[in-house]
Amino acid sequence: MKILVLNAGSSSLKYKLFEDLQSITEGVVERIGEAGGVKDHAEALGKIEVLLAENGALRSFDALDGVGHRVVHGGERFVEPVRIDDEVIDAIRALIPLAPLHNPANLAGIEMMRQRAPHLPQVAVFDTAFHQTMKKEAYLYAIPIEFYEKEGIRRYGFHGTSHAYVAKEAARMLGQDMSETNLITLHLGNGASVCAIKRGKSAETSMGFTPLQGLVMGTRCGDIDPEIPLWMVKKGLDAEVILNKKSGLKGLCGENDMRLVEERAAGGDEAAKMALEVFVHRIRHYIGAYYALLGEVDALVFTGGIGEHSALVRQLACRSLENLGICLDTQKNLEGECDISVNESLVKIFVIPTNEELEIARQAEAVLEKL
Ligand code: ADP
Repeated sequence: MKILVLNAGSSSLKYKLFEDLQSITEGVVERIGEAGGVKDHAEALGKIEVLLAENGALRSFDALDGVGHRVVHGGERFVEPVRIDDEVIDAIRALIPLAPLHNPANLAGIEMMRQRAPHLPQVAVFDTAFHQTMKKEAYLYAIPIEFYEKEGIRRYGFHGTSHAYVAKEAARMLGQDMSETNLITLHLGNGASVCAIKRGKSAETSMGFTPLQGLVMGTRCGDIDPEIPLWMVKKGLDAEVILNKKSGLKGLCGENDMRLVEERAAGGDEAAKMALEVFVHRIRHYIGAYYALLGEVDALVFTGGIGEHSALVRQLACRSLENLGICLDTQKNLEGECDISVNESLVKIFVIPTNEELEIARQAEAVLEKL
């Protein structure tokens, strides 16, 4: 089966082509709607079709068996991937108030592809879907219940495709069924979240109503006292911009790229050292919390740009957790092995490169096979 995976952002359109779940080619069209870039998502899609034909990967979109779209917000309605039809499009549109930055761009990708190839089956794969197994006590906020009942304000969680992908890989490495596997998965990239997975299902995750909650991120604050944004607003400040774009590692030390934070910290820069400590402190806080929630943990999994590449963050995150049965092998960690725990470690520690596009292709293929 030939499947094109599309990830449409407000100013970019990423694509990856799969044939029988093997990656053939990938790329990105950037600066959509900006000076020097293409006009809109339709033009971006046209460009992708030409590129694929030119490099011999695909004659035209008509040679595809289907398209898998990443959709950020599926609300409570979408608990699994679905074939896209008019009704699904309306439902994704109705969720725009919950994801005003992401869902409109995802929809643009879907609608342009439907215009170009109306008969091609398309599947929506939602970032929130994996977390729809959370129990009510995990997803409700303790605010007046009508905000949940009338407005849908609750924890949704994001990065679900990535947590699901690495969880399956981890279960495979453990030689266990997903349904009997308990994990703490740490997706540490520019955005970062952690997920407690109980018997293969998301039981709790650190991102919430929006992707702002939880861990310290590149430019996002993660957990803070909710009075802080109120205080900012009273001062006439733009809390939304400050907390989303000027906080996190960047807010603490002026730098959001973890490689540069580490470089500066190694050179003795106090602000960078503290940013790293705050970042890791929050991770450890969640490891402890999710350990308690799960009772038993088979493995701790690191993924995302930082999780996959930063031996330092992994080492600091696992510092003194031996009493919890989490025992890092410092050497294996430095060498970047897949299993970085000592042989006797009760809880395995894995580094698993995420592959959200492959997971979307797999899920899209599973839906298409049932048609
Ligand atoms: P996104 O969330 O945008 O997909 P990534 O998962 O690619 O981002 O993660 C980006 C982060 O990974 C950046 O902070 C980057 O500095 C960090 N990173 C990548 N390589 C390394 C490395 N070798 N050491 C430390 N951090 C790294």
